[in-house]
Amino acid sequence: MKYALVTGGSRGLGRAICCKLAEMGIPVLINYQSNQAAAEEVRDIIRSNGGEAELLRFDVSNESEVTEVLSQWESNHPEDYIAYLVNNAGIRRDNVMFMMPTSDWQAVMNTSLNGFFYVTRQLLPKMMMRKHGGRVVNMASLSGLKGIAGQTNYSAAKAGLIGATKALAQEAAARNVTVNAVAPGFIETDMTKDLPQEELQKLVPMKRFGKPEEVAALVGFLCSDAASYITGEVISINGGLY
Ligand code: NAP
Repeated sequence: MKYALVTGGSRGLGRAICCKLAEMGIPVLINYQSNQAAAEEVRDIIRSNGGEAELLRFDVSNESEVTEVLSQWESNHPEDYIAYLVNNAGIRRDNVMFMMPTSDWQAVMNTSLNGFFYVTRQLLPKMMMRKHGGRVVNMASLSGLKGIAGQTNYSAAKAGLIGATKALAQEAAARNVTVNAVAPGFIETDMTKDLPQEELQKLVPMKRFGKPEEVAALVGFLCSDAASYITGEVISINGGLY
């Protein structure tokens, strides 16, 4: 059986992506860091809609935790593999660079960039060995494409993720594994709830923030058979904001 793993699946974009993939008939592993109640809610919604979902708690930025939990899952599921990996977990710790504590620089890099590395490296061998290949979708950001003042840590992590996406796409292509990135602009989630939405949405040509379900539809497409020849791409989803 082919499973999907969505890191940071308990809230926001990850939650909508878990629901979308489950709707496509894929059994989903919902990863989260600490918010078990939110993760259980996603699992219950999926199950009540007839889908399959399980929780898989680990901190993507903790290498030994990632290795331990995913190795355990793999040894408990010898006939199955994670064919769809959505590296979505991410955090913001905004500050102008001259005032940024080292801990905030490291926390953001460790989650978005190192987290991608730890999780993907662990799952790639099985994906590349299987005939049906796999899909890796990395959650980048407009911030990683253009750079945003006050987000040097976040822009660097997301730009790094975009570079890694393009390089890994070339390594994995011959094994039928596609690797793409999605770069959202402003989307309505917990991550953006402290931002002045009324002001910021004036900057967006579509004059609104996006919905998590709109991003989930794009991730669902990239995971579908219809996207089998798309790899190494970064697809923006931002209401026209560049
Ligand atoms: P969110 O609402 O703050 O949710 C973050 C999710 O990531 C939660 O499920 C959280 O788990 C999980 N998480 C955080 N650190 C983790 C860790 N170390 N290990 C495992 N899980 C962890 O964020 P969001 O807006 O949905 O953002 C999702 C992704 O999209 C992020 O990578 C973000 O950078 C990117 N993005 C968002 C926007 C936007 O406008 N919202 C725009 C561009 C890119 P818990 O529930 O357990 O805390």
